[in-house]
Amino acid sequence: MKIAIMGAGLSGLACALTLEKNGLTPTVFDNRRCVGDRFVNGEILLPMLEQSFSDPLVRLSEVYGIYLQPTNNITALTLHSENKTAQLTGQLGFINLRGRVETSFESQLARQLKTKILFNSTYDYTALLKEFTHIILAVGDFRYTEEIQRVKSSLTVTLKGATVAGNFNQREVAAWLDNTIAPKGYCYLIPFSGKEANITLAYPEYPEAKELNQNKLWDRYFERVCKDTRQNLRITDQFEIHHYRMGISDMPRIGNTFFVGNCLGTMMPALGFGQLPSMLSGIYAAQDLLGQLNYQQTAKSLYQSYHHSMTLRKFLESLNNANLDTLVSLAGTPLANRLLNNRRISLLKIISRLLTPLFG
Ligand SMILES: Cc1cc2nc3c(=O)[nH]c(=O)nc-3n(C[C@H](O)[C@H](O)[C@H](O)COP(=O)(O)OP(=O)(O)OC[C@H]3O[C@@H](n4cnc5c(N)ncnc54)[C@H](O)[C@@H]3O)c2cc1C
Repeated sequence: MKIAIMGAGLSGLACALTLEKNGLTPTVFDNRRCVGDRFVNGEILLPMLEQSFSDPLVRLSEVYGIYLQPTNNITALTLHSENKTAQLTGQLGFINLRGRVETSFESQLARQLKTKILFNSTYDYTALLKEFTHIILAVGDFRYTEEIQRVKSSLTVTLKGATVAGNFNQREVAAWLDNTIAPKGYCYLIPFSGKEANITLAYPEYPEAKELNQNKLWDRYFERVCKDTRQNLRITDQFEIHHYRMGISDMPRIGNTFFVGNCLGTMMPALGFGQLPSMLSGIYAAQDLLGQLNYQQTAKSLYQSYHHSMTLRKFLESLNNANLDTLVSLAGTPLANRLLNNRRISLLKIISRLLTPLFG
Protein backbone atom coordinates (compact mmCIF):
# COMPACT_ATOMS: atom_id res chain seq x y z
CA MET A 1 0.00 0.00 0.00
CA LYS A 2 1.29 3.47 -0.93
CA ILE A 3 -0.69 6.09 0.96
CA ALA A 4 -0.70 9.84 0.22
CA ILE A 5 -2.21 12.30 2.67
CA MET A 6 -3.00 15.61 1.02
CA GLY A 7 -3.12 18.26 3.76
CA ALA A 8 -1.25 18.41 7.08
CA GLY A 9 -4.06 19.97 9.13
CA LEU A 10 -6.01 18.36 11.97
CA SER A 11 -7.61 15.54 9.99
CA GLY A 12 -4.57 14.73 7.81
CA LEU A 13 -2.18 14.66 10.77
CA ALA A 14 -4.52 12.58 12.96
CA CYS A 15 -4.72 10.10 10.08
CA ALA A 16 -0.94 10.05 9.56
CA LEU A 17 -0.28 9.51 13.28
CA THR A 18 -2.73 6.61 13.50
CA LEU A 19 -1.18 4.93 10.46
CA GLU A 20 2.34 5.45 11.72
CA LYS A 21 1.58 4.08 15.19
CA ASN A 22 0.30 0.92 13.51
CA GLY A 23 3.23 0.36 11.22
CA LEU A 24 2.19 2.09 7.96
CA THR A 25 4.16 5.09 6.70
CA PRO A 26 2.15 7.53 4.59
CA THR A 27 3.55 10.36 2.48
CA VAL A 28 2.15 13.65 3.79
CA PHE A 29 1.90 16.70 1.50
CA ASP A 30 1.00 20.26 2.39
CA ASN A 31 0.95 23.19 -0.01
CA ARG A 32 2.00 25.72 2.64
CA ARG A 33 5.49 26.46 4.01
CA CYS A 34 4.98 24.95 7.46
CA VAL A 35 2.33 23.43 9.68
CA GLY A 36 -0.42 25.90 10.60
CA ASP A 37 0.88 28.56 8.24
CA ARG A 38 -2.12 30.86 8.66
CA PHE A 39 -3.43 33.40 11.17
CA VAL A 40 -3.18 32.43 14.83
CA ASN A 41 -6.50 32.07 16.58
CA GLY A 42 -8.09 30.59 19.65
CA GLU A 43 -10.59 27.79 19.21
CA ILE A 44 -12.53 25.75 21.73
CA LEU A 45 -13.67 22.19 22.36
CA LEU A 46 -17.01 21.95 24.13
CA PRO A 47 -17.81 18.31 25.01
CA MET A 48 -21.45 19.24 25.64
CA LEU A 49 -21.83 19.96 21.92
CA GLU A 50 -19.62 17.21 20.59
CA GLN A 51 -20.13 13.49 20.29
CA SER A 52 -20.91 11.92 23.63
CA PHE A 53 -17.33 11.64 24.86
CA SER A 54 -17.01 12.92 28.37
CA ASP A 55 -13.54 14.31 27.63
CA PRO A 56 -12.33 14.45 24.01
CA LEU A 57 -8.66 14.95 24.98
CA VAL A 58 -8.69 11.92 27.29
CA ARG A 59 -10.31 9.88 24.53
CA LEU A 60 -7.72 10.99 21.95
CA SER A 61 -4.87 10.05 24.26
CA GLU A 62 -6.19 6.88 25.90
CA VAL A 63 -7.88 5.31 22.90
CA TYR A 64 -5.87 6.64 19.97
CA GLY A 65 -2.49 7.58 21.47
CA ILE A 66 -2.74 11.18 20.25
CA TYR A 67 -1.71 13.74 22.85
CA LEU A 68 -2.96 17.31 22.81
CA GLN A 69 -2.43 19.97 25.42
CA PRO A 70 -4.98 22.82 25.50
CA THR A 71 -3.89 26.31 26.52
CA ASN A 72 -6.54 26.25 29.22
CA ASN A 73 -9.63 24.59 30.66
CA ILE A 74 -12.90 26.46 30.31
CA THR A 75 -14.55 26.91 33.69
CA ALA A 76 -17.03 29.66 32.76
CA LEU A 77 -19.09 30.46 29.69
CA THR A 78 -20.89 33.78 29.68
CA LEU A 79 -23.85 33.96 27.33
CA HIS A 80 -25.24 37.30 26.23
CA SER A 81 -28.41 38.06 24.29
CA GLU A 82 -29.70 41.56 23.55
CA ASN A 83 -31.00 42.13 27.10
CA LYS A 84 -29.90 39.17 29.20
CA THR A 85 -26.68 37.64 30.47
CA ALA A 86 -26.14 34.23 32.01
CA GLN A 87 -23.07 32.42 33.21
CA LEU A 88 -22.53 28.68 33.05
CA THR A 89 -19.80 27.24 35.23
CA GLY A 90 -18.05 23.91 35.67
CA GLN A 91 -15.54 21.90 33.66
CA LEU A 92 -17.02 22.99 30.36
CA GLY A 93 -14.24 22.27 27.88
CA PHE A 94 -10.91 23.51 26.53
CA ILE A 95 -9.33 26.49 24.81
CA ASN A 96 -6.60 25.74 22.29
CA LEU A 97 -4.57 27.61 19.73
CA ARG A 98 -4.50 27.12 15.98
CA GLY A 99 -2.03 28.38 13.44
CA ARG A 100 1.69 28.83 13.16
CA VAL A 101 2.58 28.89 16.88
CA GLU A 102 4.44 26.01 18.60
CA THR A 103 1.51 25.30 20.93
CA SER A 104 -1.19 25.11 18.23
CA PHE A 105 -2.99 21.79 17.88
CA GLU A 106 -1.55 21.22 14.40
CA SER A 107 2.01 21.94 15.62
CA GLN A 108 1.52 19.52 18.53
CA LEU A 109 0.30 16.79 16.15
CA ALA A 110 3.17 17.40 13.73
CA ARG A 111 5.73 17.04 16.54
CA GLN A 112 4.36 13.57 17.35
CA LEU A 113 4.77 12.45 13.73
CA LYS A 114 8.00 10.77 12.70
CA THR A 115 7.19 10.91 8.97
CA LYS A 116 8.55 14.05 7.31
CA ILE A 117 5.88 16.37 5.90
CA LEU A 118 6.55 17.51 2.34
CA PHE A 119 5.79 21.24 2.37
CA ASN A 120 5.27 23.64 -0.57
CA SER A 121 3.62 20.77 -2.43
CA THR A 122 2.29 21.50 -5.89
CA TYR A 123 0.84 18.00 -6.39
CA ASP A 124 -2.82 17.95 -7.28
CA TYR A 125 -5.18 15.04 -6.70
CA THR A 126 -4.82 13.66 -10.22
CA ALA A 127 -1.03 13.59 -9.96
CA LEU A 128 -1.25 11.73 -6.63
CA LEU A 129 -3.63 9.16 -8.14
CA LYS A 130 -0.90 8.16 -10.56
CA GLU A 131 1.71 7.53 -7.88
CA PHE A 132 -0.21 6.21 -4.87
CA THR A 133 -2.58 3.33 -4.24
CA HIS A 134 -4.60 5.21 -1.59
CA ILE A 135 -5.29 8.93 -1.14
CA ILE A 136 -6.54 10.76 1.93
CA LEU A 137 -8.05 14.09 0.93
CA ALA A 138 -7.52 16.44 3.87
CA VAL A 139 -7.12 19.88 2.28
CA GLY A 140 -9.66 21.61 4.56
CA ASP A 141 -12.37 22.42 1.98
CA PHE A 142 -14.58 20.88 -0.70
CA ARG A 143 -12.46 21.85 -3.76
CA TYR A 144 -11.47 18.30 -4.69
CA THR A 145 -14.43 16.56 -3.06
CA GLU A 146 -16.79 18.37 -5.39
CA GLU A 147 -14.93 17.25 -8.47
CA ILE A 148 -15.45 13.65 -7.37
CA GLN A 149 -18.85 13.50 -5.67
CA ARG A 150 -21.92 15.46 -4.59
CA VAL A 151 -21.65 17.80 -1.62
CA LYS A 152 -24.87 18.83 0.04
CA SER A 153 -24.32 22.47 0.96
CA SER A 154 -26.19 23.72 3.99
CA LEU A 155 -24.94 27.28 4.16
CA THR A 156 -22.00 29.62 3.70
CA VAL A 157 -20.82 31.93 6.44
CA THR A 158 -18.99 35.24 6.75
CA LEU A 159 -16.49 35.32 9.62
CA LYS A 160 -14.81 38.52 10.74
CA GLY A 161 -12.43 38.36 13.65
CA ALA A 162 -9.69 40.14 15.50
CA THR A 163 -7.04 39.59 18.11
CA VAL A 164 -7.60 42.10 20.89
CA ALA A 165 -5.35 43.23 23.72
CA GLY A 166 -6.91 43.66 27.17
CA ASN A 167 -7.25 41.81 30.45
CA PHE A 168 -8.95 38.44 30.36
CA ASN A 169 -9.79 35.56 32.64
CA GLN A 170 -8.02 32.81 30.70
CA ARG A 171 -10.64 30.23 31.65
CA GLU A 172 -13.70 32.20 30.65
CA VAL A 173 -15.19 32.35 27.17
CA ALA A 174 -18.16 34.45 26.09
CA ALA A 175 -20.74 34.24 23.34
CA TRP A 176 -23.38 36.64 22.02
CA LEU A 177 -26.67 35.53 20.46
CA ASP A 178 -28.15 38.80 19.24
CA ASN A 179 -29.69 39.33 15.81
CA THR A 180 -28.86 43.04 15.83
CA ILE A 181 -25.15 42.14 15.85
CA ALA A 182 -25.03 38.74 14.13
CA PRO A 183 -28.31 38.09 12.28
CA LYS A 184 -29.03 34.34 12.54
CA GLY A 185 -25.44 33.94 13.69
CA TYR A 186 -23.31 34.41 16.78
CA CYS A 187 -20.25 36.17 18.15
CA TYR A 188 -17.70 34.94 20.64
CA LEU A 189 -14.66 35.85 22.68
CA ILE A 190 -11.93 33.30 23.35
CA PRO A 191 -8.96 34.40 25.46
CA PHE A 192 -5.68 32.82 24.55
CA SER A 193 -3.67 34.46 27.28
CA GLY A 194 -4.35 36.83 30.14
CA LYS A 195 -3.62 39.73 27.78
CA GLU A 196 -4.95 38.56 24.40
CA ALA A 197 -8.21 37.21 23.05
CA ASN A 198 -9.94 36.44 19.80
CA ILE A 199 -13.23 38.10 19.07
CA THR A 200 -15.24 36.77 16.14
CA LEU A 201 -18.49 37.63 14.42
CA ALA A 202 -20.10 34.90 12.27
CA TYR A 203 -23.32 35.08 10.27
CA PRO A 204 -24.81 33.06 7.42
CA GLU A 205 -24.80 34.45 3.90
CA TYR A 206 -28.49 34.00 3.10
CA PRO A 207 -29.84 36.13 0.22
CA GLU A 208 -31.21 38.71 2.70
CA ALA A 209 -27.70 39.10 4.18
CA LYS A 210 -26.69 40.99 1.01
CA GLU A 211 -28.44 44.02 2.52
CA LEU A 212 -26.27 43.84 5.66
CA ASN A 213 -23.44 46.26 6.20
CA GLN A 214 -20.65 44.09 7.59
CA ASN A 215 -18.64 47.03 8.94
CA LYS A 216 -21.66 48.35 10.83
CA LEU A 217 -22.28 44.92 12.37
CA TRP A 218 -18.62 44.68 13.34
CA ASP A 219 -18.61 48.18 14.92
CA ARG A 220 -21.74 47.30 16.87
CA TYR A 221 -20.16 44.02 18.05
CA PHE A 222 -16.89 45.63 19.03
CA GLU A 223 -18.73 48.28 21.04
CA ARG A 224 -20.75 45.54 22.74
CA VAL A 225 -17.70 43.44 23.64
CA CYS A 226 -15.98 46.50 25.12
CA LYS A 227 -19.12 47.33 27.11
CA ASP A 228 -19.67 43.75 28.36
CA THR A 229 -16.01 43.22 29.28
CA ARG A 230 -15.87 46.74 30.76
CA GLN A 231 -12.67 47.71 29.00
CA ASN A 232 -11.36 49.52 25.95
CA LEU A 233 -10.00 46.66 23.92
CA ARG A 234 -7.27 47.31 21.35
CA ILE A 235 -7.28 45.45 18.04
CA THR A 236 -3.82 44.07 17.16
CA ASP A 237 -4.65 41.79 14.22
CA GLN A 238 -7.67 41.07 12.02
CA PHE A 239 -9.01 38.42 9.66
CA GLU A 240 -11.99 38.02 7.37
CA ILE A 241 -13.30 34.86 5.74
CA HIS A 242 -16.15 34.93 3.24
CA HIS A 243 -18.16 32.00 1.83
CA TYR A 244 -16.91 29.52 4.47
CA ARG A 245 -18.92 26.52 3.45
CA MET A 246 -20.73 24.10 5.70
CA GLY A 247 -22.02 21.01 4.01
CA ILE A 248 -21.59 17.28 3.88
CA SER A 249 -20.40 14.98 1.13
CA ASP A 250 -22.39 11.92 0.12
CA MET A 251 -19.64 9.35 0.70
CA PRO A 252 -16.71 9.09 3.15
CA ARG A 253 -14.81 6.88 0.69
CA ILE A 254 -14.92 6.37 -3.07
CA GLY A 255 -12.64 3.69 -4.42
CA ASN A 256 -9.31 4.22 -2.73
CA THR A 257 -9.88 7.91 -1.99
CA PHE A 258 -10.90 8.80 1.57
CA PHE A 259 -12.50 12.17 2.45
CA VAL A 260 -11.62 13.49 5.90
CA GLY A 261 -12.10 16.72 7.88
CA ASN A 262 -13.68 19.54 5.92
CA CYS A 263 -13.30 17.46 2.72
CA LEU A 264 -15.92 15.11 4.21
CA GLY A 265 -17.95 17.85 5.93
CA THR A 266 -17.00 17.65 9.60
CA MET A 267 -17.60 21.34 10.32
CA MET A 268 -20.68 21.28 12.53
CA PRO A 269 -23.14 23.87 11.23
CA ALA A 270 -24.76 25.00 14.50
CA LEU A 271 -21.82 26.79 16.07
CA GLY A 272 -18.89 25.93 13.80
CA PHE A 273 -17.24 23.19 15.87
CA GLY A 274 -15.11 20.97 13.69
CA GLN A 275 -11.84 20.18 15.44
CA LEU A 276 -12.79 16.92 17.14
CA PRO A 277 -14.85 15.48 14.27
CA SER A 278 -12.10 16.33 11.79
CA MET A 279 -9.48 14.48 13.86
CA LEU A 280 -11.85 11.54 14.38
CA SER A 281 -12.50 11.31 10.63
CA GLY A 282 -8.73 11.09 10.02
CA ILE A 283 -8.39 8.38 12.66
CA TYR A 284 -11.37 6.42 11.28
CA ALA A 285 -9.97 6.55 7.71
CA ALA A 286 -6.63 5.24 9.02
CA GLN A 287 -8.36 2.45 10.92
CA ASP A 288 -10.00 1.36 7.66
CA LEU A 289 -6.63 1.30 5.87
CA LEU A 290 -5.25 -0.75 8.74
CA GLY A 291 -8.06 -3.28 8.28
CA GLN A 292 -9.43 -2.54 11.77
CA LEU A 293 -12.79 -0.80 11.15
CA ASN A 294 -14.82 0.12 8.11
CA TYR A 295 -14.83 3.88 7.43
CA GLN A 296 -18.32 3.76 5.84
CA GLN A 297 -19.55 2.47 9.23
CA THR A 298 -17.50 4.63 11.59
CA ALA A 299 -18.27 7.80 9.60
CA LYS A 300 -21.98 7.28 10.32
CA SER A 301 -21.57 8.93 13.73
CA LEU A 302 -20.03 11.98 12.03
CA TYR A 303 -22.96 12.23 9.61
CA GLN A 304 -25.36 11.94 12.56
CA SER A 305 -23.58 14.72 14.46
CA TYR A 306 -23.76 16.90 11.37
CA HIS A 307 -27.52 16.40 11.10
CA HIS A 308 -28.07 16.98 14.84
CA SER A 309 -26.04 20.14 14.59
CA MET A 310 -28.00 21.34 11.53
CA THR A 311 -31.26 20.85 13.42
CA LEU A 312 -29.90 22.93 16.28
CA ARG A 313 -28.83 25.62 13.82
CA LYS A 314 -32.30 25.82 12.23
CA PHE A 315 -33.84 26.16 15.69
CA LEU A 316 -31.44 28.95 16.73
CA GLU A 317 -32.03 30.77 13.45
CA SER A 318 -35.78 30.71 14.04
CA LEU A 319 -35.46 32.69 17.29
CA ASN A 320 -35.98 36.44 17.45
CA ASN A 321 -34.23 38.55 20.05
CA ALA A 322 -37.05 38.17 22.61
CA ASN A 323 -36.81 34.37 22.23
CA LEU A 324 -33.02 34.55 22.57
CA ASP A 325 -33.44 36.56 25.80
CA THR A 326 -35.63 33.74 27.12
CA LEU A 327 -33.13 31.10 26.01
CA VAL A 328 -30.27 32.88 27.75
CA SER A 329 -32.34 33.30 30.93
CA LEU A 330 -33.09 29.56 30.88
CA ALA A 331 -29.43 28.73 30.32
CA GLY A 332 -28.63 30.61 33.52
CA THR A 333 -30.80 28.38 35.71
CA PRO A 334 -29.22 25.77 38.03
CA LEU A 335 -31.01 22.94 36.16
CA ALA A 336 -29.48 24.00 32.82
CA ASN A 337 -26.06 24.25 34.45
CA ARG A 338 -26.43 20.71 35.82
CA LEU A 339 -27.45 19.39 32.40
CA LEU A 340 -24.58 21.13 30.64
CA ASN A 341 -22.13 19.65 33.14
CA ASN A 342 -23.51 16.13 32.84
CA ARG A 343 -21.00 14.32 30.67
CA ARG A 344 -23.03 11.11 30.61
CA ILE A 345 -25.55 12.59 28.20
CA SER A 346 -25.09 14.01 24.72
CA LEU A 347 -26.90 17.30 24.93
CA LEU A 348 -26.65 17.80 21.17
CA LYS A 349 -28.38 14.47 20.55
CA ILE A 350 -31.16 15.20 23.05
CA ILE A 351 -31.79 18.72 21.72
CA SER A 352 -31.80 17.41 18.18
CA ARG A 353 -34.32 14.64 19.01
CA LEU A 354 -36.64 17.18 20.62
CA LEU A 355 -36.35 19.62 17.73
CA THR A 356 -36.39 17.22 14.77
CA PRO A 357 -40.21 17.17 14.41
CA LEU A 358 -40.13 20.94 13.90
CA PHE A 359 -36.74 21.66 12.34
CA GLY A 360 -35.24 18.37 11.18
C1 LIG B 1 -12.32 31.16 12.19
C2 LIG B 1 -12.59 29.73 12.58
C3 LIG B 1 -12.84 29.41 13.90
C4 LIG B 1 -13.09 28.09 14.25
N1 LIG B 1 -13.35 27.81 15.57
C5 LIG B 1 -13.54 26.53 15.97
C6 LIG B 1 -13.73 26.22 17.34
O1 LIG B 1 -13.73 27.09 18.21
N2 LIG B 1 -13.89 24.90 17.69
C7 LIG B 1 -13.90 23.89 16.75
O2 LIG B 1 -14.04 22.72 17.13
N3 LIG B 1 -13.71 24.16 15.44
C8 LIG B 1 -13.53 25.45 15.03
N4 LIG B 1 -13.31 25.73 13.70
C9 LIG B 1 -13.30 24.59 12.75
C10 LIG B 1 -11.96 23.85 12.71
O3 LIG B 1 -10.91 24.75 12.66
C11 LIG B 1 -11.97 22.96 11.45
O4 LIG B 1 -13.09 22.14 11.53
C12 LIG B 1 -10.73 22.09 11.31
O5 LIG B 1 -9.56 22.84 11.28
C13 LIG B 1 -10.84 21.28 10.02
O6 LIG B 1 -9.71 20.43 9.90
P1 LIG B 1 -9.21 19.95 8.47
O7 LIG B 1 -8.17 18.96 8.70
O8 LIG B 1 -10.37 19.61 7.61
O9 LIG B 1 -8.58 21.28 7.81
P2 LIG B 1 -7.31 22.13 8.24
O10 LIG B 1 -6.96 21.89 9.65
O11 LIG B 1 -7.63 23.51 7.80
O12 LIG B 1 -6.13 21.55 7.33
C14 LIG B 1 -6.10 21.62 5.94
C15 LIG B 1 -4.64 21.53 5.50
O13 LIG B 1 -4.60 21.27 4.11
C16 LIG B 1 -3.56 22.04 3.53
N5 LIG B 1 -3.86 22.18 2.10
C17 LIG B 1 -4.78 22.96 1.49
N6 LIG B 1 -4.74 22.79 0.17
C18 LIG B 1 -3.78 21.86 -0.08
C19 LIG B 1 -3.25 21.26 -1.26
N7 LIG B 1 -3.73 21.57 -2.44
N8 LIG B 1 -2.25 20.36 -1.14
C20 LIG B 1 -1.75 20.03 0.08
N9 LIG B 1 -2.20 20.57 1.23
C21 LIG B 1 -3.21 21.48 1.15
C22 LIG B 1 -3.61 23.34 4.32
O14 LIG B 1 -2.39 24.04 4.23
C23 LIG B 1 -3.86 22.82 5.73
O15 LIG B 1 -2.66 22.53 6.40
C24 LIG B 1 -13.08 27.05 13.29
C25 LIG B 1 -12.82 27.37 11.94
C26 LIG B 1 -12.57 28.69 11.59
C27 LIG B 1 -12.29 29.02 10.15
